[in-house]
Amino acid sequence: MTRCLIISNRLPMNYDQQKKSFIPSAGGLVSAIMGLDAEKVGQEFHWLGLMTDDVDSSQIEKMKETKFDDITCHPIVVPKQAYDSYYNKYCNNVIWPLFHYERNLVYYSPSGWKNYVLINKLIAKSIADYAQNSDNIWIHDFHLMLVPGMLKELRPELKIGFFLHIPFPSSEIFRELPQREEILRSLNQCDLVGFHDLSYLNHFKSSMSRIIGEDGNDNRDRKWGVYPISIDTPRFKRIAQDQRTKEKLMEYLKHKGNGQWILGVDRLDYIKGLILKLRAFKDFLKKNPDQVGLVQLIQVVIPSRTDVQEYQNLKDKIEQLVSSINGEFGTPTYMPVQYLYHGVNNFELAALYQASDVLFISSRRDGMNLVSLEYVVSQIEDFEGSILLSEFAGAHSTLSYAISINPWDIENTSAKIKEALLSPQEVRTSRMKPMMKFLEQYTSSDWARIYLRDLTIEYLPKEESQILKKENFFEWIQHFSDKKILFFCDLDGTLLPIAGHPSQVSISMETLMLLEEISHNDKFSFVIVSGRDKEFLQKYFLDNDLHLSFGACHGAYAYDDRIGVWQDLINSDNLKWKELVEEILKLYTIRTPGSFIEDKGHALTWHYRSSPANFAEFLAHKLFNELEENLQSFPVKVVRGKKIIEVKSVQANKGAFVAHWLNNLTPENKPDIIVALGDDTTDEDMFHALQEQKEFVTYCIKVGQSPTVAKYFVHDQTTVTPLLKNIVEQMM
Ligand code: UDP
Repeated sequence: MTRCLIISNRLPMNYDQQKKSFIPSAGGLVSAIMGLDAEKVGQEFHWLGLMTDDVDSSQIEKMKETKFDDITCHPIVVPKQAYDSYYNKYCNNVIWPLFHYERNLVYYSPSGWKNYVLINKLIAKSIADYAQNSDNIWIHDFHLMLVPGMLKELRPELKIGFFLHIPFPSSEIFRELPQREEILRSLNQCDLVGFHDLSYLNHFKSSMSRIIGEDGNDNRDRKWGVYPISIDTPRFKRIAQDQRTKEKLMEYLKHKGNGQWILGVDRLDYIKGLILKLRAFKDFLKKNPDQVGLVQLIQVVIPSRTDVQEYQNLKDKIEQLVSSINGEFGTPTYMPVQYLYHGVNNFELAALYQASDVLFISSRRDGMNLVSLEYVVSQIEDFEGSILLSEFAGAHSTLSYAISINPWDIENTSAKIKEALLSPQEVRTSRMKPMMKFLEQYTSSDWARIYLRDLTIEYLPKEESQILKKENFFEWIQHFSDKKILFFCDLDGTLLPIAGHPSQVSISMETLMLLEEISHNDKFSFVIVSGRDKEFLQKYFLDNDLHLSFGACHGAYAYDDRIGVWQDLINSDNLKWKELVEEILKLYTIRTPGSFIEDKGHALTWHYRSSPANFAEFLAHKLFNELEENLQSFPVKVVRGKKIIEVKSVQANKGAFVAHWLNNLTPENKPDIIVALGDDTTDEDMFHALQEQKEFVTYCIKVGQSPTVAKYFVHDQTTVTPLLKNIVEQMM
């Protein structure tokens, strides 16, 4: 199994002094990685993270020896003082607020940046020492953005991936960062940079292009991608059904009586929009007096960064607002806001998810927001809950059936609270069910599997095909004199100009005369290999007394002028490609809500009409490229239609056709030279097959400048007849 080194600021385990044992650290990344099925992902995981040098060395040694869920942990020990400065003064005082659009909370300090560089350097050095050549390196999050560049310098052979778990801000915000260039140049060294949401990728792209002039025109589509994280669905389902959860649920339901609960679960952080949430709830109570006494907001606030003044101030503000709402609307038997300033355990959390009628996520900005996903998979009984979800959370793209809110719009959010509370059971179920289904098929294991697959996939470098078509074929014509030539020539776009409609064909007098000359000269065999059907070719050429040969329907039918009959080359349908295509389509389906695969027998179609539009279009573009790349040697065609991508069996391709033709040549018909011309992707198969064979001298000529395996090119269709004429004249 290949090794994957996960690198993050923290290790997934902390040593608990009181319990004298390691306990899992909290957080989305830890639960995503710890929930991975190593077998399914096909990698052996090693986790490298920071520990400060004030920690007891016996703990550090212990950490090195212990495996957690099959993950080997490797602490990187760094000086405590430098760590604190890097973590507080740069990560949390600069990157965190700036990337979450909270510019007024950004505090720059030179020592913060200096220590950010230092710690990133120490990490890069440790990875370089630990990594084996074949390891995949997966670096996580905003704490380590300089590591890719530093590591690439030390170990250029390593595959390096980076994933950003927070939003990437608009380039208008990002370009304010004094160290913007150093950060982008480092990330540009990655083999793959991943984001949770398409908007983050778009912001990153525009920053790249504005700040360091990377325009995304080369193979960047492959280096940058969108991979929304998911959760360990089976684990959350297990917890949801656990006896301890059931007991808690009973207890909560007793307290709830016949009222309704709105639930909030947020870490104490300004990004979560807790003040906006409380204001909207207050507005709701004000406007719906009949609901006062019935609806409660259960707000769990998980303490975070308690030593930072900013967070202390936020806590004070929240608590003031909670008191004011409770003071205004409360009664001796009714408390509108139940405020819990402490964490809850897994079973309490699952019971809260199940007991509440609405989950309320009001984030001002949030990289993803896992609570909303967890809420969905915890709805095991009748899918009863509703979700109010901020459109500024990354999860908004994944949970496309949630009730969308702009948390800044207090009045509208208040109206949406009402809508969520009042929506009938069938509506809730119809919203919740597709989201549940999606999360059942797309888990955190799939997230990692898909990311790592994209990181490790090998593509043919684009430069190669560009180099190959540098020579202009006209310069080669001098090589032809008195030779026997076999031509394979595509029709539309090559010999004939592309017409507005296939039924309209225009052949110039010059081309007609040339074909006539060729067809009556024994030195030439001319085979038109076309996507057109045999009836068309028969009528257009043979009935006009042009003695040419043909491959019709991309080579499914052959007509050899010397034999004079059409031959059907397809004996049995080869559907081997379907397995491969299905595997690829499934990878896209599981991460695109609302998309599905249709098996049409000779075609597989991926539909994404009901999926989040931008994300699905983005993936469709990627999928199309991937299918084209992978299927070149198969008898299929990849078609992009309206909200579909289809792979069709063409039951033959031009490559197989020319191979068949060459195998059936009699000794007296063997040419000295083969010349093949084509403009289309289907002609690439023909070029490929010809360049593979060793018996004949071949000249494959691409018409136009799109990527090709052909060695030669001519600029456009209008140069084809003059070129052929030139060759013919050379032979006379
Ligand atoms: N969570 C927790 N303790 C609690 C309640 C929740 O650790 O008392 C977990 C919750 O289950 C979720 C995570 O904290 O997995 C919060 O992740 P999210 O992405 O919603 O927000 P973040 O805190 O990462 O910004």
